[in-house]
Amino acid sequence: MNAKRIYLSNPHIGHLEQEYVAEAFATNWIAPLGPHVDAFERELAQAVGTAGAVALSSGTAAIHLALRLAGVGRGDTVFCSTLTFVASANPILYEGAVPVFIDSEPDSWNMSPAALQRAFIDAELQGRLPKAVVVVHLYGQSADMAPILELCGLYGVPVIEDAAESLGATYRQRSSGTFGRFGVYSFNGNKMITTSGGGAIVSDDLEALDKARFWSTQSREPVPHYEHTQIGFNYRMSNVAAAIGRGQLRVLEERVESRRRVYDRYFRALSRLDGIAFMPEAPYGRSTRWLTALTVDAERTGWNRSRLLEELAGRNIEARPVWKPMHLQPLFQSCSYYPHEQHRSVSDELFGSGICLPSGSDLQEEDQNRVIDAIMTLVSSVAGKRVLQ
Ligand SMILES: *Cc1c(COP(=O)(O)O)cnc(C)c1O
Repeated sequence: MNAKRIYLSNPHIGHLEQEYVAEAFATNWIAPLGPHVDAFERELAQAVGTAGAVALSSGTAAIHLALRLAGVGRGDTVFCSTLTFVASANPILYEGAVPVFIDSEPDSWNMSPAALQRAFIDAELQGRLPKAVVVVHLYGQSADMAPILELCGLYGVPVIEDAAESLGATYRQRSSGTFGRFGVYSFNGNKMITTSGGGAIVSDDLEALDKARFWSTQSREPVPHYEHTQIGFNYRMSNVAAAIGRGQLRVLEERVESRRRVYDRYFRALSRLDGIAFMPEAPYGRSTRWLTALTVDAERTGWNRSRLLEELAGRNIEARPVWKPMHLQPLFQSCSYYPHEQHRSVSDELFGSGICLPSGSDLQEEDQNRVIDAIMTLVSSVAGKRVLQ
């Protein structure tokens, strides 16, 4: 097999990144802290419209510190979207707290307000309200924040937005990640923009952000000798990483447009096929289309998402099933789960039939055509067999 490998989501570097990194080298700011970190925090906060930001070593670290800021501790409960990457939920375990998973709703694939409401009603009856709610914005699309914020407000529970996949997305004209008490972004290599590994918390609560900054540098008290009164972490973003991030922020809008174009091409080529449905874009905002996701109805197509994954793998094309929901993970088997409807779990359906296609902002049209051809070949070969039968 000689065909060049096509990846799910590549790092995509612009022109300014090298300049900023060179400057970091020239000024010998290779040490972790430095001027690019401060500038990156300012520029990120300005880009999304919050009062401040803290740059950290990963999105996971950002979720961890946001949970600590919300006061999550041992034995507490935290509600969390079930259809997500494990990094949304792992930090709940770091703090010795217990996740309760909330299903998706079919219109956005994001947290179901109906399931959230049932979880709140039960929690109140048990006298055990959660300390925080982690809302994930899946594959670049914001969750429907209005009903979620209303419910959380009613019960007085803070919202942490896991916007790792949705930097550049909007909800009612405002940036995804700026509605909860804290918003979290990731700059991992496969995300909308990258610092070659990094993350951030954004918020309007500058005092809380200062606390996170303090915790992220081992909670060193501001005295000459090493004085510590609180537990600390080594979670700060480095100056070199922030230099890359500053360059990447300048091209964020282009990256969103590129990924949306990738989605549009898939949609035009495949949406008329019987039994294929793309992840819907909710009318309340703009998705980044971080990954183009679709579902395959096995009965109508005669093939399923596993067969499609095989077909693509055979052509050296990387594709992935939709996230396996957290409530189905052995790691979380003892945790409670609230499906969208009493007897309907939307995330189970999406996991069973959903697939993410290569969606990088640098995906070339000819490479995307290879992906489309693979799907069309599968469609016509199965259709051919059906006619013969
Ligand atoms: C990538 C991702 C994270 C974790 O970010 P890292 O920077 O890799 O630690 C968290 N949540 C979601 C939904 C993600 O996709």
